[in-house]
Amino acid sequence: MDKIRVLVTGAYGRMGREVVKAVVAQEDLELVGAVDKVGGGQDIGQICGLGVLGLTVETDLTVVLGNTAPAVMVDFTTPLTVMDNIKAALEAGVAVVVGTTGLTEENLDEINDLAARSERGVIVAPNFALGAVLMMRFAKEAARYFPDVEIIELHHDRKIDAPSGTALKTAEMIAAGRVAEPGSKPAPLEKINGARGGEYLGTKIHSVRLPGLIAHQEVIFGNQGQTLTIRHDSLDRSSFMPGVILAVRKAQEIKGLVYGLDALID
Ligand code: NAP
Repeated sequence: MDKIRVLVTGAYGRMGREVVKAVVAQEDLELVGAVDKVGGGQDIGQICGLGVLGLTVETDLTVVLGNTAPAVMVDFTTPLTVMDNIKAALEAGVAVVVGTTGLTEENLDEINDLAARSERGVIVAPNFALGAVLMMRFAKEAARYFPDVEIIELHHDRKIDAPSGTALKTAEMIAAGRVAEPGSKPAPLEKINGARGGEYLGTKIHSVRLPGLIAHQEVIFGNQGQTLTIRHDSLDRSSFMPGVILAVRKAQEIKGLVYGLDALID
């Protein structure tokens, strides 16, 4: 069986390095390209602590797409560059797995159109950790009975976007699960601007950024005389890798946009 040829963009970054290690560890996958703005010319294996792999980090995605004929590109870059990377991959006929967060609804619509036109698949998942997917599912279920809910998401201090893509997706799933409008009407007097967080689809979201954190989220439901808290913690970036590898294996089977890992499991 032919191996799936994989290109990683953002390969020098924290998530990109984990993806490189995970891809190299799979027998059915072959790492054919590593692209990043930084680290150009360095051996990607050495950067990731794997020893020399004989594959250097390249800085020009278009050139690498042309030279390496990948089947799937995995992108963990920044919200500022991910759209250009997706367009370049689809133009080259390459399926895409996107972990980069911060994409807007307009971005997702555009990706849907581009993927449909190129007849290739794009999987965008704001969170590739299985536990986070379950947290979102459970939150949707709880929202049926507990419409009043707030989300606290906590991430490392170098995360660019706020709130997290996971928090936004959770709020969307809560909105889809609610059968009644939220009942509580807290007093509007906010003595410090932003103290009550931001609101999305009827759910308040609070973003915490601190060194030492990786990716964590609490979904707190309140009801008469009781609360229900659903919490997920990614303690290590390796928690995202089974989901990324699953998406890489499925990417060529789909056409158009798939949003969320939820759609890929069972
Ligand atoms: P990071 O360490 O900053 O890595 C991003 C890398 O991409 C950096 O090396 C960056 O270089 C590089 N880059 C920027 N523009 C590029 C371009 N045009 N082409 C190629 N590479 C480019 O960030 P991270 O912690 O790995 O996170 C990356 C993304 O993944 C973020 O959006 C984060 O929210 C997301 N994330 C998703 C999940 C999930 O499960 N979906 C989990 C964790 C994180 P510079 O530093 O020079 O800009």
